[in-house]
Amino acid sequence: MMTATTGSLPVELRPPDIGRYRHGSHAIPYAITLAGGRPGPHVVISALMHGNELCGAIAADRLLSAGLRPARGRLSFIFCNIPAFAQFHPDYPAMSRYVDEDMNRVWSPGRLDALPAPGDSGELRRAREIWPLFASADLVLDIHSMLHDTVPMMLAGAAPRALALAQHIGLPGWIVTDQGHAGGSRLIDHPRFTGPEPEGPTALLVECGQHWQRQAADTALTIAARFLEISDIIQRDALTPWLPSTPWAASRLVEVTQTITVLTNQFHFTHEVSGMDIIPTAGTLIALDGDRPVRTPHDHCILIMPARHPVRGHTAVRLGRLVA
Ligand SMILES: [Zn+2]
Repeated sequence: MMTATTGSLPVELRPPDIGRYRHGSHAIPYAITLAGGRPGPHVVISALMHGNELCGAIAADRLLSAGLRPARGRLSFIFCNIPAFAQFHPDYPAMSRYVDEDMNRVWSPGRLDALPAPGDSGELRRAREIWPLFASADLVLDIHSMLHDTVPMMLAGAAPRALALAQHIGLPGWIVTDQGHAGGSRLIDHPRFTGPEPEGPTALLVECGQHWQRQAADTALTIAARFLEISDIIQRDALTPWLPSTPWAASRLVEVTQTITVLTNQFHFTHEVSGMDIIPTAGTLIALDGDRPVRTPHDHCILIMPARHPVRGHTAVRLGRLVA
């Protein structure tokens, strides 16, 4: 039984010093908003939703340090889970994903709006603190990284307009559409960003590569620059240093067909999974959840981001198929 292949990867990235953003530019700690001189959309780049995913913080810090300013609209950078990030240590880099609960499962109106109650958490309190920023956002790029060393992945959730934006940005990797997680709502799943309308506030989640690899930070920077280019609030020349120098290979679109949620304390994959494996034949056994076999529901089934330590009530893996 094996669930991951990343145990021996070197930790190439170091946490950036973000202490100078502590007071924020307005009311929210670790949130910086820059205003252009003319009206335009509010564009938000979000980092550290998971405290151990350094690439987004590095990219945001570099863009801020470069003095990037919008010509119109507003540009915000938010460093989300500071207490988790503060616990990052290169000797045990997986341990600082969150403190109390996964911050990217709390973004439903029910949890954001409810009064403090049993089940409250540090992550939920911070989400409530920073929600006003997202509630005024027209475009959001939420930057993450992942356990497995695979090509980048843009998660568009279920919103057609998010898929359209993802395809417009392009990406040297996968675009994934899905219906979210049983374990809770991601930021991109909040009703503000979903819905069938072709126009409206739009949020994407990008997985920039393996958590600890230098390449993940470079990818985060390039994709953030491309996202800002599409948003059209910044002079293109100002973004040139980070934009891709050659055209990207076309991204492949994969649709999640099934989300496997862990039901017992005895879930394990039956063979080694490395992320984005493609299982040729329907009915292939991929995991046991207690005594329950988990099989691929269709041919050419893609295993998307299998969990390293599958936890009851959380997603073990998503299954998908390539869309022509
Ligand atoms: Zn993440």
